[in-house]
Amino acid sequence: MSSLVNRNILKVKTYKPGKPIEEVKRQLKLKGRIIKMASNENTLSPSDRVISAIKGNLKSLNRYPDGGCFYLKKALAGKLRLKPENIIVGNGSDELIILALRAFTSKGDEVIIAKPTFLIYEIASSIEGVKVRTVPLKDFRYDLKGMAKKLNKNTKIVFIANPDNPTGSFVSRGEIDWFLRKVKRDTIVFFDEAYYEFARKLKDYPNTLKYLKKKNIIITRTFSKIYSLAGLRVGYGLARKELIDPMNKVREPFNVNSLAQVAAEAALKDSVFVSKTLKLVNEGKDYLYRNLKFLGYNYVKSATNFVLINVGRNSRSIYEKLLTKGVIVRQMSPWGLNGFIRVTIGTMKENRRFIRAFKEVSR
Ligand SMILES: *Cc1c(COP(=O)(O)O)cnc(C)c1O
Repeated sequence: MSSLVNRNILKVKTYKPGKPIEEVKRQLKLKGRIIKMASNENTLSPSDRVISAIKGNLKSLNRYPDGGCFYLKKALAGKLRLKPENIIVGNGSDELIILALRAFTSKGDEVIIAKPTFLIYEIASSIEGVKVRTVPLKDFRYDLKGMAKKLNKNTKIVFIANPDNPTGSFVSRGEIDWFLRKVKRDTIVFFDEAYYEFARKLKDYPNTLKYLKKKNIIITRTFSKIYSLAGLRVGYGLARKELIDPMNKVREPFNVNSLAQVAAEAALKDSVFVSKTLKLVNEGKDYLYRNLKFLGYNYVKSATNFVLINVGRNSRSIYEKLLTKGVIVRQMSPWGLNGFIRVTIGTMKENRRFIRAFKEVSR
């Protein structure tokens, strides 16, 4: 069989998503409520406003979606003070990673990523047959100096998750200013800002939009995290028109479905929902920090809605015992972070249940 398969794909590790609630319930024959704190989703359901926008469009499902996402782009352009021509909408921001690789890389090109970081950069690059150069994190942060050393004439894209997943750390304005000066004109810096809304008010968090006009950068953000629409798959990319146009060429014409478009547009206007989520996440984060400290566990300070926790040698068994208690977290060995779990911040009730279960299983 292997000779049938595209050679690039043979080496690719299949991405394993966090376990779905129903699956865990079935496998472990669990009763009662299961809580999922594994995939950095918003624990709150979408607001009524978003749900009614979706309902209001169900009758048009016989029609193809607007392939140009006209209204959503218009709303985003207004909010960000850009032109619609500077925006591309994707089937999740994950799709934009793939589109950028397809539009800008050819055989012999290279990308630079951190190790570990968001897994999709490496997976998508390998599928496209692009060489991946990795630079280890330093103290759970991107090492931009190390990444600058790897730049060469074949470097096409540098992926920077900011804030990063799975660490939750971020690179600062000063670091970005410095790094962008090192990058030549024919290299693209791809800022994946999936957690932008959680980080934007932090001191030293960079406003990358200010480089948009002058530099070859692509910024992506998503409706999957703070906007609570992970199930619908919508994300967007921001860049100069010269970069957006080629990405549109390789995009499937109807990549964003019609319900996703109206839901995203409604969610964008719902600032009350965003504030509510931020408040919940900040409160939950403080609670988790306090309790982890009290229990004697180290964690990485997070600019996101999740926390990476060093639970030590027994991480595998801690993860499995948490599952039997109906608490799903992420076990981090696929990232090479043996000894770590990643916990998405939930409601206060969920956070308390996690800490209670964690105390029991980590003894
Ligand atoms: C969750 C996440 C995404 C978002 O993916 P979508 O495809 O928009 O759901 C992108 N990048 C990082 C680093 C993430 O953690």
